[in-house]
Amino acid sequence: MPTAIRIQRTGGPEVLEPAEVDPGEPGPGQVLVDVAAAGVNYIDTYQRSGIYPVDLPYVPGLEGAGTVAAVGAGVTDVSVGDRVAWQGSPGGYAARTLVPADIVVRVPHGVSDEVAAATLLQGVTAHYLVNSTYPVRAGETILVHAAAGGVGLLLTQLAKAKGARVIGTVSTEEKERLAREAGADEVIRYTERDFTEAVRELTGGEGVAVVYDGVGKSTVEGSLDSLRVRGMLALFGASSGPVPPIDPQRLNAGGSLFLTRPKTGDYLRDRAELEWRTGELLAAVADGSLRIRVGGRYPLTEARQAHEDLEGRRTTGKVLLLP
Ligand code: NDP
Repeated sequence: MPTAIRIQRTGGPEVLEPAEVDPGEPGPGQVLVDVAAAGVNYIDTYQRSGIYPVDLPYVPGLEGAGTVAAVGAGVTDVSVGDRVAWQGSPGGYAARTLVPADIVVRVPHGVSDEVAAATLLQGVTAHYLVNSTYPVRAGETILVHAAAGGVGLLLTQLAKAKGARVIGTVSTEEKERLAREAGADEVIRYTERDFTEAVRELTGGEGVAVVYDGVGKSTVEGSLDSLRVRGMLALFGASSGPVPPIDPQRLNAGGSLFLTRPKTGDYLRDRAELEWRTGELLAAVADGSLRIRVGGRYPLTEARQAHEDLEGRRTTGKVLLLP
């Protein structure tokens, strides 16, 4: 009976193999969790394919939620039976996994394990992007690429809650509907028309204050062209492929632009920052002000299909694996 998904070599989705993996007992500072749901994230595909190197063999999966089954020495903040969620430690594609206790958060009443697993990684990303990388202000117009994706739906909602006018890009009619439901004021089908032109039209020629771009290769040039003078490109991912080098002079010509390439770990520097971001997110989920869309649920053993669908642009919102 497979208990995890393992990769022994990097490659396409076919390298995700169901396997029996015993996580062992929790060591000092660790908890053993019975996984109820594991989050699938785009970064899992980069690790699987070798773009982000990992030590092999490797059990992918950087987030999940479930119930604490055992705690190691020195763990005092959580106990056996507690419902917890985490992001930022591998091994989530499994029925049981070991997690460092210092990245675990309790799941509040009223938030299911599935929703908790669907909130943390993409939620923290959206949270740091709108609050810290480029703090969005009321009345500003901003651009969110892949607005119906996992991060995209959350970014859209968080930016709307701050009073921004959100322009989203998506590839299909169904994704357009979801982006609008999340609050996007304008939605551009960037597979059908030049989004830069559309952004210029929608902003009276001025451009947007910030572009949150997790698409990368196919959008980066257009994103720079969509910015207003002194606007910021927050390039946080590359679902369409790695971005080629950018000449700093390009930022000068575009109007003294700012370019940043942020990552989650740098915006979760200590426990206080983790509790701030996850606390706000889970509270918003619990009170209904932040809606989490689980767009795909797959049995753990179908991780390969989940990756194929994510990379094939067939998913919306969060993708989960259920052991
Ligand atoms: P998504 O759910 O957003 O899935 C990716 C989406 O990208 C697709 O649904 C698709 O939306 C769009 N896309 C555009 N072109 C392509 C292409 N050629 N191939 C595949 N997809 C394409 O994934 P996530 O929410 O998990 O992640 C979004 C991005 O954010 C990723 O790049 C990821 O690496 C990044 N990220 C970065 C973090 C950080 O801290 N830096 C943390 C978390 C995520 P459509 O069909 O509408 O175009």
